Amino acid sequence: MIVRATAIPLDYHPYSSTSRIVHWLTRHHGKISTLLRGALRPKSPFLGEYELFGTSELLYFQKRTGTLHSGKECALLHPRTTFRTDWRAMQAASTLSALFNKTTPDEAPQPGLFELFEELLDLAEEYGRHPQFLPWAELHFCSHHGHAPNLGPCVLCSSEKDLRFCASSGGTVCTECSKNHKLPTLECPPDVLAILRTWQRADHPRVAVKTRLSAKQENRLDTILGTFMRHHFNLPIESRNAVCNT
Ligand SMILES: [Zn+2]
Repeated sequence: MIVRATAIPLDYHPYSSTSRIVHWLTRHHGKISTLLRGALRPKSPFLGEYELFGTSELLYFQKRTGTLHSGKECALLHPRTTFRTDWRAMQAASTLSALFNKTTPDEAPQPGLFELFEELLDLAEEYGRHPQFLPWAELHFCSHHGHAPNLGPCVLCSSEKDLRFCASSGGTVCTECSKNHKLPTLECPPDVLAILRTWQRADHPRVAVKTRLSAKQENRLDTILGTFMRHHFNLPIESRNAVCNT
């Protein structure tokens, strides 16, 4: 059966000297993988019709679920050209693509997730060069998945005092509870907690990019969110570092 899909590449790698495997997030068919035969040949009809971060219309022969489908044609609809020239924005988009790639199961249709990916890529074109963008986008992603970190009072005793951050408990815990339960926690000073709370409530990154961050705050936010994301989405440690260490 031939399927027509709106799709954005999440990643690709060579299959042979002339063919390529492309993993896509599609609007109605979830994450799929296709073999694009001859995609690396100089006169391939696929050439210039798909690229990372760009939305394409893809036609493919659907094979058995969970196997490699066979790409037939594609046409680039919306290339998102900012990422060709803005290196920092491109790094943010690249981290988001890796995040969606690693957390999305194969062939499970989730139109809402595709819309979120498109929305975040569009926003990354405009705001991705700011260091505040990615942590904001990660908080937004967590909320979409129903994994928003709890940033209120201690999750165990509701105390508002001496709060720290514990990824495995899902958010803030007080110093006393963390001692009593021997929890692995991270320092989360009140200024950093206030930033996290504000950003979590913000449904647009324009709020986050206005926040002026000291190097120390930036580092703390990075550590807290990095630990939380790895814990809740089973991400490898290196997936964020490309952006955060620059
Ligand atoms: Zn407590």
